[in-house]
Amino acid sequence: MTFQAQWAEASAAVEAAQKILIVTHVNPDGDAIGSMLALALALREQGKQVTTAVDGGVPDFLGYLKDSGKVIGRLKRGHFDLMVSVDASDEERTGIAGAFGRRRSQRVINLDHHPTNTGFGDIHLVLPEAVSATEVVYEWLSRMGHPLSQPIATALLTGLVTDTMGFRTSNVTATTLGIAQQLMQAGASLTEVTARALVARSYSTIELWKRVLPLVRLEDRIISGVVAQADLAAVGLVDVTDGGLVSLLASVQEAVIAVVFKETREHRVEISLRSKPGYDVGTVALSLGGGGHTQAAGATIDGPLEAAIARVMPLLRVAAGVGAAA
Ligand code: 5GP
Ligand code: MN
Repeated sequence: MTFQAQWAEASAAVEAAQKILIVTHVNPDGDAIGSMLALALALREQGKQVTTAVDGGVPDFLGYLKDSGKVIGRLKRGHFDLMVSVDASDEERTGIAGAFGRRRSQRVINLDHHPTNTGFGDIHLVLPEAVSATEVVYEWLSRMGHPLSQPIATALLTGLVTDTMGFRTSNVTATTLGIAQQLMQAGASLTEVTARALVARSYSTIELWKRVLPLVRLEDRIISGVVAQADLAAVGLVDVTDGGLVSLLASVQEAVIAVVFKETREHRVEISLRSKPGYDVGTVALSLGGGGHTQAAGATIDGPLEAAIARVMPLLRVAAGVGAAA
């Protein structure tokens, strides 16, 4: 099917549906919640009955987005005419909410911007060249002729700002800035979105970094850090996070790849990967059952930590051009 036909089919599916469920990926970021809420706001304005759900709900720092309080953290009931998955490259990433929704929905739209998208679902709105899932939602809304209200524009700009780290990633083009301009003209505040969704961090994050930074290593142009459950517990963080440490490590001039290994409560290991242009971590993440983009990717693999590190580092050496291909 041509892309034009996919847009038309997606719009027709929305038109025919009354009860619509929107889900996104677990451990949601600004793009996940921004694309979910922008679409939800628009479809509600179109008179649809919209349910939004992601396991664990919306992180506190995204609470400024309109209707974030309506997002369900544990989806347990409902039947839907249509489910839309946003910003998730594979079905597993949509967690319990996605699995439940899939069973209770007649059709599934897969809206995403990850080049590693597995092509799940019935209708595919996957634009790998889009800098964020909110850019795909923006494109769809403009094709539907849906006007940009201030809350919708704010949610869309949130994904644009967070996934591009404030318009700094290598995929940002004049078109990206043109979309940002439209969103600001619709009333979104770049200052506020940047401050809340990108810059602000809690003091516990600094405490976490104080523990973790002394053990950071730079070897073979790969800079690596480890966040164990004990580190998170010591600073009172419940969610598995590096607080953005991987971005800090990726800024190191001497490194071409940055990696952070994070231990989950179930003793699995979440891996965050970043690379400089010319080095591909998306393919590495995909080979580990995860996904992402060429320059920012991730996967969740079996622990314990030491085993995960021993498995992943040789793959990264190959990606960094310093190890022999297996
Ligand atoms: P982050 O390091 O910020 O958590 O994630 C960076 C990128 O990698 C995002 O595009 C995210 O969707 C992807 N990613 C991170 N963890 C996983 C994972 O466990 N599975 C998949 N499929 N993608 C992931
Ligand atoms: Mn995204």
